Amino acid sequence: MSMQPWDAVFLVGFVAYMVIRGVFEQRTKGTEKSIRRIDARERALLSLVFVGCILLPVVYLFTNWLGFADYHLPTYVPWAGTATMVAALWLFWRSHSDLGKNWSRSLEMRPAHQLVRHGVYRSIRHPMYASILLFGLAQGLLLQNWLAGWSGILTFSVMYFVRVPHEEQMMCEFFGDTYRDYMRASGRVFPRIRSNSDR
Ligand code: SAH
Repeated sequence: MSMQPWDAVFLVGFVAYMVIRGVFEQRTKGTEKSIRRIDARERALLSLVFVGCILLPVVYLFTNWLGFADYHLPTYVPWAGTATMVAALWLFWRSHSDLGKNWSRSLEMRPAHQLVRHGVYRSIRHPMYASILLFGLAQGLLLQNWLAGWSGILTFSVMYFVRVPHEEQMMCEFFGDTYRDYMRASGRVFPRIRSNSDR
């Protein structure tokens, strides 16, 4: 098996993504939680995302098993994928950094949880999910394979649309009107331009 150059670019971004996650996981490890909403639905979503964002790309990169779904794109497409990946990694790192000790992989709250509204959270409520969607898009533009390329954005979109209403409900229960005000002042993944319509 010989790795194509764009596959190697994806691999570098994938490793950077894992390193960022690992660093912030270490920083928040062992902190006390007062609310944990990790039910069967949440576990199923995490498994689905694991398959689309990790398992299929790794199988594609290190075996020939998915070769039947390969295709070829003009060179400007993976170049666009590289630029998208750089933007995704920047936003992924910034959102972890702005959330600080308030970050969790799942739906959890801490006794001294602070509502973050600064940095990349100023005008959007879900910059980390936006960064993962961008990363999924970069995966599709870099890996020229129908399965390994598009499985990331597809599976994470399912996670996004199912999880976000539950996450926002949890935040409203915890922070009350403060979070409802924040919802009015911000967009989900696109900055709010006008008030009232976009959620
Ligand atoms: N949805 C956010 C955060 C994802 S991490 C984003 O995409 O950027 C998920 C956890 O972050 C949630 O369980 C919640 O505990 C925490 N969280 C989400 N938004 C937050 C905010 N604005 N301030 C503090 N914590 C937040």
